[in-house]
Amino acid sequence: MKTEKMVIVGSGPAGLTAAIYGARANLRPLLFEGMMPGGQLTMTTMVENFPGFPEGIDGPGLMERMKQQAERLGARIEASEVTGAVLKPREHVLRGGDREVKALSVIVATGATARWLGVRGEAELAGRGVSSCATCDGFFFRGKAVAVIGGGDSAMEEATYLAGLCSKVFVIHRRDRFRACPMLVERAGANPVIEFVMDHVPLAFVPTGEGLLEGVSLRNVKTGEERLLRVDGVFVAIGHDPKTDLFKGQLDTDGSGYIVAQKGSTRTSMEGVFAAGDVQDQSYQQAVTAAASGCMAARDAIRYLESLANP
Ligand code: NAP
Repeated sequence: MKTEKMVIVGSGPAGLTAAIYGARANLRPLLFEGMMPGGQLTMTTMVENFPGFPEGIDGPGLMERMKQQAERLGARIEASEVTGAVLKPREHVLRGGDREVKALSVIVATGATARWLGVRGEAELAGRGVSSCATCDGFFFRGKAVAVIGGGDSAMEEATYLAGLCSKVFVIHRRDRFRACPMLVERAGANPVIEFVMDHVPLAFVPTGEGLLEGVSLRNVKTGEERLLRVDGVFVAIGHDPKTDLFKGQLDTDGSGYIVAQKGSTRTSMEGVFAAGDVQDQSYQQAVTAAASGCMAARDAIRYLESLANP
């Protein structure tokens, strides 16, 4: 079995940036794209907060450019998924596609996925009024009425952010108490644009005749009453799940399942394994922060490989 110097798992901004840096260090990194080449950004329409694109760029287009850049510099990108990993210092074995590779260093950039409600109309209206990221898509709803679904810190942060752009922000929560920390709840509650809709669960997202969002149909869990709340956009903020199944029991994770990286670096609990992007970051989860941590992971891996070569 061939030993690779650097294997990268994941093809979002973190993985592809790591590939760019690894390639420029002449490591010819091998990157496995996974089931969703380009990652979560490929589900976004317009990205306006990635520096360097004054007119904005569509998410799939941005990821395609990063891929071309990594390949031009010498990264090898495989259109397959890693289905197994056995981590062991200096001989990590990954099963990708129909073969196994041994790696001296591994960069885990598998990302996180937004949780969705699974109600009627959600999948059809995703990107057409239904979103899971206010920072990404809030701008498109300037001056309009929107709703945020969820009662945690993310819901409060998204609602407060959207209140700076939208004419009205409803926060729809399934209980009579928020899970979010009191400070965030107080801040959101004091904002005149934000209205809390407690004890309501979403039943369906309702389309207009043009296939855009007309509103969200809700049920009051206490009275059973149902109604349609008319909004132009809905932001589902019920949490994210990091994609760490492959490495379960092999890398330290925190209480929410995110890989724990050592402070100030991307080193994980396993020698030669580095984590980058959303899989190790519950707070920021932005394309630009993921790219930055991909750069850090590649540089940490390069230093590690140098220390193996020159002990
Ligand atoms: P979270 O704390 O897990 O909250 C998810 C919210 O969504 C809960 O209120 C939950 O309701 C609701 N929910 C879950 N499934 C639902 C469903 N099927 N239908 C309707 N509602 C549903 O997730 P999060 O807000 O994304 O936060 C994740 C972590 O990141 C937390 O540890 C949080 O503290 C941290 N975070 C921190 C900050 C900050 O400090 N500034 C910002 C963002 C996130 P219930 O309450 O009824 O369970």
